Amino acid sequence: MRKIKSTLLVCFLFLSAGVFAQDEQATKEETVQAGHTNQNKFRQLYQEFSTPNQYRTGAGAPGEAYYQNQADYKMDIELDDKNQKLSGYETITYHNNSPDALEYLWVQLDQNIRTKDSEAKLKDGNGISPVTQSSTFVNDFMEEPFDGGFHIEEVSSKDGKSLPHTINFTMMRVDLPQPLKAGESYSFNIKWWYNINNHVTDRARSGYEHFPEDGNNVYVIAQFFPRMGVYNDVEGWQNMQFWGSGEFALPFGSYEVNITVPADHILDGTGELQNRKDVYSREMMKRYEQAKKSYDKPVVIVTQEEAEAAEKGFSDKKKTWKLKAEMVRDFAFATSRKFIVDMMNVKVMGKDVMAESLYPKEGNPLWGDYSTKVVASTVKSYSDHTFQYPYSKAISVHAKNQGMEYPMICWNYGRPEKDGTYTDRVKFGMMSVIIHEVGHNFFPMIVNSDERQWGWMDEGINTFMQYLAEQEFAREYPQAISPEEVYPSRRGIPSKIVPYMKGDQSYIAPIMSNPENVFQLGNNAYGKPATALNILRETVMGHDLFDYSFKTYANRWMFKHPTPEDFFRTMEDASGVDLDWFWRGWFYGTDNVDIGIKEVKKFQITDKVTKEGKALLERYNVEDPASIDAVYVVEEGSDEYNAESKGKTSLENAPKLNEYLMDNFTPEERAKLKNPKFFYQVTFNKPGGLVMPLIVEYTYADGTTNNVKYPAQIWRKNDKEVSKAIASDKEITKITVDPNLETADVNLDNNSWPQNAKEDKFQNFKKEASN
Ligand SMILES: [Zn+2]
Repeated sequence: MRKIKSTLLVCFLFLSAGVFAQDEQATKEETVQAGHTNQNKFRQLYQEFSTPNQYRTGAGAPGEAYYQNQADYKMDIELDDKNQKLSGYETITYHNNSPDALEYLWVQLDQNIRTKDSEAKLKDGNGISPVTQSSTFVNDFMEEPFDGGFHIEEVSSKDGKSLPHTINFTMMRVDLPQPLKAGESYSFNIKWWYNINNHVTDRARSGYEHFPEDGNNVYVIAQFFPRMGVYNDVEGWQNMQFWGSGEFALPFGSYEVNITVPADHILDGTGELQNRKDVYSREMMKRYEQAKKSYDKPVVIVTQEEAEAAEKGFSDKKKTWKLKAEMVRDFAFATSRKFIVDMMNVKVMGKDVMAESLYPKEGNPLWGDYSTKVVASTVKSYSDHTFQYPYSKAISVHAKNQGMEYPMICWNYGRPEKDGTYTDRVKFGMMSVIIHEVGHNFFPMIVNSDERQWGWMDEGINTFMQYLAEQEFAREYPQAISPEEVYPSRRGIPSKIVPYMKGDQSYIAPIMSNPENVFQLGNNAYGKPATALNILRETVMGHDLFDYSFKTYANRWMFKHPTPEDFFRTMEDASGVDLDWFWRGWFYGTDNVDIGIKEVKKFQITDKVTKEGKALLERYNVEDPASIDAVYVVEEGSDEYNAESKGKTSLENAPKLNEYLMDNFTPEERAKLKNPKFFYQVTFNKPGGLVMPLIVEYTYADGTTNNVKYPAQIWRKNDKEVSKAIASDKEITKITVDPNLETADVNLDNNSWPQNAKEDKFQNFKKEASN
């Protein structure tokens, strides 16, 4: 039989003086938290989150009344290569699946960001930039403003009658003859044209690059047609204009698009090519059939020789390429005489997907060597973490300075020098941007978040996935990443976000900000959320719980429109991990991580009651300390400790404990008990505002180590510091917080005890991280 009461007292006394102080502090903190200035970092996000409803559940899934409207397009497009003009006639059929009657429809005219008098050009108040690119300088100060906005020539109903419409900057309201009722559809036509911009000089997502050596253009064309806005349960009509940074919000639909270009152009775009035999030569068809059977390397469909010959042609004849796509939220295409084409098939969960690249000779040899392989590997890797890639193809197009994504097709940078040589930086930059932009097929092209409002929902999630895909590509093609041993990922590794996190707070906005309103979009919407998700997976949740929840989110919202809460809620709902503290710190705040060691106290066992011990005994109403089994602990260096070291009493001798053990345990049980000889009180402090798990490596005198991860909840009652009692049978010689740099700790100077620890693995880590 055990003496329960005595055991409790053993514990109390063991913890001794330090606990006293902490107890009182915790009590103060709790009083503050009970008041209306509740600042506890573990409180739920009820005020920040929208209330769950029948459209979106508290679990983060689509609700029973969830709906989304659909927009189907039939378009005839023609490119005027000589004058760089694009014109089109489109019929939009809009399906109102909402429960609401709609008096008008909003159409997006994103090209209007490039009208002569565009407000977007007037939005910045930064004055003169002392360093600027020549092209920007010429654009801003020397040239007449370029007329790149839409010329809308007709907005008409199905029977050809003109429809009243109002253009407000990048949006156009089309007034309906009568409200479009719930469940009804409406078809109307728009005729338009615009001057295509040079995307290299004006740094746009869409446009052409001109090659003066041969007089040709490479066109990468997107946001090129009036597109339906999104109407939903969250925003009504998405009514934020296109200012340039916040990207796009688009409904799903089907597309039938006929694109007429010079007969000697090679074109590809979103959707299935309907008339391959009309637009491909016989030789190209033969190679295409070979590519369908090639799963290990690309087959060249248009060779460099053939592309170079085509560059000189400038045909006056025309050809029409017909593309058809289902369940896409957008449409884009690329066309040029200069395109080399290669393709290979890739099995994605048992299904064939054609990986494809289009590039001018200026991209070789880099593009021929790597692009299509990277596409294939990316589609596979992303599918493993989400769902089977649902489309039949994925295309990477080489375009200078570009990194931009559309359904099934994307534009990517990475150009060798004129002599074909390239640095590792160019090579890995090219591979990374291809992984990133092909990856966008999943987020936001299929998991269709609102980019106009939330940059991180596609960029942050996608940059996190890119990090995983980069590591997987390196495993699949080790020879491609040689001489690097691991893929040199730019974002996702915790130490890489430290410079941003510890920067000037007045230039840091929370991740949960609109992309237009932040200072460093790259760090805000890409780097920080990618790192946060990586830490969540590696350090907070573990792979199994994270991967299951992330997959649940992807599958719940595949071909739907999620909001931030849908993501946050699903991650918690599917894992059984309350993460409100994590979202609050990483996504709603701008605090950084700084956790350190404030103090280490050593203790020794004794049978003498210390002053503090006596106070404790009084507090717990123990009148006669000698009547109980107790272990008392004295701090090394204290008066009691010194007195005992001088030999007045033996420290080895703890008869009370022995008596307790003898009375309560059988010899077999005693043999299994630990025999701690060293006792420490370690006080960890947290100068950084961000709450994180406390990861500690204890190193012992014999050189062995023990890693302990205390959950983030250790900070729930005291956000500033916590103390742990450590009992050990070996002497602790070193303590290190976050030894593997998992938490993006911004200050490593306070991470080790003793502070003057010699050069070791951790110090080397620190050096590498600061390089
Ligand atoms: Zn992106």
